[in-house]
Amino acid sequence: MSEPAVETPVLDRYECRACGYVYEPEKGDDKHDIPSGILFAELPTNWRCPVCSAKKTAFANIGPAGTASGFKENLGYGLGVNNLTPSQKNILIFGALALGFLFFISLYGLQ
Ligand SMILES: [Zn+2]
Repeated sequence: MSEPAVETPVLDRYECRACGYVYEPEKGDDKHDIPSGILFAELPTNWRCPVCSAKKTAFANIGPAGTASGFKENLGYGLGVNNLTPSQKNILIFGALALGFLFFISLYGLQ
């Protein structure tokens, strides 16, 4: 197997611009039963800030813990590149699986 190395997911934190609450993927959101490890992009669209109930759109990407605040936000702002990457990965993965399955079926059909 020579699959491309799986990147470690970047756990970007998001800050509520209304109240300053920071959503940390490592912690999740106890108030809304969001387990740890859920990326901000994976939160349900009706998720609200647990402190002030602001919508997801009120949050700004401030990058993973330990990086300069605002760095990632400037990079990805308006482009949505960070949000697209996980789905693009999924498409690649499922595309590869589908190709492998078709290949297997075609071999099976020849016998
Ligand atoms: Zn808030």
